[in-house]
Amino acid sequence: MAFEAIQTALRVVYPPRCTLCGGLVDSEFGLCGPCWRDTPVVSGLVCDLCGCPLPGEEAVGDARCDDCLRVARPWQKGRAALIYKDNARKLVLALKHGDRHDVVPLAATWMKRAAGPLLVPNCLFVPVPLHWTRLLKRRFNQSALLAQAVTKEVNAAWCPDVLERVKRTPSLDGMGHGGAVRDAGCGHRRAAGAAREDTGARGDSGR
Ligand SMILES: [Zn+2]
Ligand SMILES: [Zn+2]
Repeated sequence: MAFEAIQTALRVVYPPRCTLCGGLVDSEFGLCGPCWRDTPVVSGLVCDLCGCPLPGEEAVGDARCDDCLRVARPWQKGRAALIYKDNARKLVLALKHGDRHDVVPLAATWMKRAAGPLLVPNCLFVPVPLHWTRLLKRRFNQSALLAQAVTKEVNAAWCPDVLERVKRTPSLDGMGHGGAVRDAGCGHRRAAGAAREDTGARGDSGR
């Protein structure tokens, strides 16, 4: 009861604000109407490999976009929460370069929704690693923050140090879909044993 009273008092003093424009909204970590309208959240029929939106409503078999039909992908299934443009691009850049960690809970709900069809019991979340020089400069790995937030949403395990980026590659900012696909193969396996341990320690998000 006391906690709820404190929460209410905090909302009066610090009312929830839109994550993008700072306008008043109904709940924390949300977007106002105009910002939401210009945020390209992926929904409907998507490519089963890269997660990009496809025309139509229902897939006959595994849906594939033209790129994924042309180029073999070294993974079996994939999903995307946002299209990297307009307000989605602003949110990504705010998180990566503006230290706006308040983007994480919002993005995690979209990622949870997008990844829903792929989630299986005892799955392990592994964030894309940063090269140590970039981690030193940025001080955090945005992929690890997102992985941690999504695992809390779905009560799964995660292991942030399974992969190690051994080669420094250019930033993906502005590279779009092709760059993201290239980046998906950047990590090297480092700690298979740790991964197995984490799968057993389901729900331990403290690593
Ligand atoms: Zn707004
Ligand atoms: Zn595709």
